[in-house]
This record gives sequence, structure tokens and C-alpha cells, in this order.
Amino acid sequence: MSVGNDRRHQIVCPKCNGSMEEGFLPDASRGVIQDTKWVRGKPEPHWLGGVKSPDQKLMGGLKDSTACISVLSYRCQKCGFLENYAR
Ligand SMILES: [Zn+2]
Repeated sequence: MSVGNDRRHQIVCPKCNGSMEEGFLPDASRGVIQDTKWVRGKPEPHWLGGVKSPDQKLMGGLKDSTACISVLSYRCQKCGFLENYAR
């Protein structure tokens, strides 16, 4: 008997076939908890320390929404493997 479409898509762990639960990776570096973002390109060292995006404008203004995407993280409840999606 197959599972109906009413159930949410179940992600299975590629390592152990355990069930994965949805979550996110919090970024609390600025005093508030935000979800971690995926940013296109390579990080460039910033002269104040840390890194900046190749297109630094998007870090402040989020001008290009396709270049800065929230990261969803799925955790295996059996072995702890993490699988991340930015979409
Ligand atoms: Zn697993």
C-alpha cells in the first residue's frame, strides 16, 4: 500500500535510511537569532575581520533575492547526519 499525497514528503537519510527532521542552522552573531543564509560566490576577507560577500550590497539590502537564500537543514534522527537545502 502506497503513502498518499496528504503526507509531507519524507526525506530519508542517505547514510542509514533513518528519518530526517526539518530544522535550520541559527546565526546569532549579531545579537539576534537569524536563519543561516546561502550566498552565491566565494567569501572575501573583510578588513574589519570576518568575511564579506563578493557583492557586499546584498548583505545589507538583499537586493538580489536569488543570491541570498535561507538554508533549511534536515537532521537524521538515527545517526545525526545533516543535509542542507537552499531553495
Ligand atoms: Zn542517518
